[in-house]
Amino acid sequence: MRIFEPHIHMFSRTTDDYENMALAGIKGVCEPAFWLGQPRTTVGAFKDYYDTLLGWERFRAAQFGVRHYCTMGLNPKEANDDRVNDGAVELVREYCTREGVIAIGEIGYDDMTAKEEKYFQIQIQIAIDHGLPILIHTPHRDKEQGVRRTLDVVRESGIAPDMVLVDHNNEMTTPIVKDTGYWLGYSIYPNTKMTPQRMVEIFRRFGTDQMIINSAADWGISDPLLVPKTVQVMRKSGMDEAEIEKVVWRNPISFFSPSGQISFADFGDNEGIDRTRLHQGNSVLRGQTP
Ligand SMILES: [Zn+2]
Repeated sequence: MRIFEPHIHMFSRTTDDYENMALAGIKGVCEPAFWLGQPRTTVGAFKDYYDTLLGWERFRAAQFGVRHYCTMGLNPKEANDDRVNDGAVELVREYCTREGVIAIGEIGYDDMTAKEEKYFQIQIQIAIDHGLPILIHTPHRDKEQGVRRTLDVVRESGIAPDMVLVDHNNEMTTPIVKDTGYWLGYSIYPNTKMTPQRMVEIFRRFGTDQMIINSAADWGISDPLLVPKTVQVMRKSGMDEAEIEKVVWRNPISFFSPSGQISFADFGDNEGIDRTRLHQGNSVLRGQTP
């Protein structure tokens, strides 16, 4: 089973993770720009981070046989920080046309402040201007109200519904988002929130159209293999192989393809792995022989 992991923060993960993911069938990943666990104090820190996603991380993934794509965005938490918000959004505008950028995100609400809303709206407009899909983070607290307000802002923006992925859904938000024409994302976590078993039950109730699953693995307690592990639970529960492939492969790549930066053809030939290759003079080998 080929798998595309549509939401994972590899910047925070190890080479072991890349190896295990490749072994589990993960051929490509999308790494959304996000919050690093502590605030950045200068716009330059965003520039370096975005350059890392587009440069070193993309290179590093390829060294383990995984194609790496990313999204550009100012996350909702740091939208509240006047030291960086305007400058970071100008960088998003500049960087969103770079090779490998397949959406604007993660954008949306965290605490539902006025500033979060302002930068959410600005970044939806950047996506519209550049013909890019948007990846929307929904708040973990006050989830239902957060999702409803998110949907209002998206509707008012006039962006085409099939260019919108609303992420971090659960049983309560699924019926609210399901008939909007937007894509639905689900982050599967090791302990809390969404489990593979609950996910299978959601597929049973709501089908698999425009449904996408991810691990959202980052620097916190998370598991970069939760998509392949969920595939196993889907199989055990008797889900059709074609339906499983739709959820973990065809849906995510189809969603991001209007960017013009990703297509099924990207995954045709295996180019092989050459670990002697350099990125700006640096390799993953750290002096070891391949
Ligand atoms: Zn994330």
